[in-house]
Amino acid sequence: HSLNESLSQLQDINVSFEFFPPNTPTMEETLWNSIKRLAPLKPKFVSVTYGANSGVRDKTHAVIDKIHAETDLVAAPHLTLVDASDQELRELARDYWNKGVKQIVALRGDLPEGSPKPTRFAVDLVKLLREEGDFDISVAAYPEVHPDAPNAQADLVNLKRKIDAGANRAITQFFFDVESYLRFRDRCVAAGIDVEIIPGILPVTNFNQLKKFAGMTNVSVPNYLYGQFEGLENDPETRKIVGANVAIDMVKVLSREGVKDFHFYTLNRAELSYAICHTLGVRPTLG
Ligand code: FAD
Repeated sequence: HSLNESLSQLQDINVSFEFFPPNTPTMEETLWNSIKRLAPLKPKFVSVTYGANSGVRDKTHAVIDKIHAETDLVAAPHLTLVDASDQELRELARDYWNKGVKQIVALRGDLPEGSPKPTRFAVDLVKLLREEGDFDISVAAYPEVHPDAPNAQADLVNLKRKIDAGANRAITQFFFDVESYLRFRDRCVAAGIDVEIIPGILPVTNFNQLKKFAGMTNVSVPNYLYGQFEGLENDPETRKIVGANVAIDMVKVLSREGVKDFHFYTLNRAELSYAICHTLGVRPTLG
């Protein structure tokens, strides 16, 4: 099978897009332009991140409300438990449920620096949500292992616990080492995890920022990626094309490996995610 042949046979690809709440009027405009641009691709859902600082939760809420009011997209808020009591989380969950928000991305959240060892984990949020309503729940997975995990096996067992507690799918941390994702997917199957492990795709345009972020999150930046972005420090135009190309190569390999669901970390920009979707055969449906 040539790659072109297998791509022309692609069917049933599902995509989802992740956004974050904007901080400024300009960013707000960028976000809504991106949502409008990506909406005709009929994503299975779009999700909105939740930052751990006070006041930001309301922002997530507001973006979700506006997506509901102005589009027919399914909007899934991210929810974290780090800085909320169980009581607060239950109230939020009920509030979402009553508004018709039935899909949630359930996370522990990142701990503020210098925090003591956590005693609550994402699995506790999954259980709590299950008690409050028949939510559709996504959880996080880490092909290259979460930085706080004692080892890969413990991290896998943690994912299994989240699924056994009632999560419907896992979305991975972004990655560039496709092999690590594929091996992880195999290990999930071997561990009896029977939900989709949806690859989280991060289209890269700012390589310097990526290097910092990857370091913090235990994501490896393979040599090929350094090679691709070398010499483009002052050339954002070319970086954009190269970044799209890198991501397109990745999704081609993944789809050849049978991946049918893709989650895009859009960073509130539509262009690259749109182009990658196009390559996957995900096109606007008109009317
Ligand atoms: P958990 O599943 O609770 O795991 C956290 C760590 O604890 C892991 O290392 C796990 O192995 C370990 N662990 C679990 N149980 C135990 C136990 N009983 N004893 C010891 N160790 C244990 N962050 C945000 O703040 N806002 C967001 O909107 C957001 N969105 C995200 C979306 C996706 C798709 C992903 C992949 C991550 C997102 N994050 C977000 C980041 C996430 O909050 C962090 O990675 C966080 O550090 C871990 O969250 P988790 O839900 O994976 O936690």
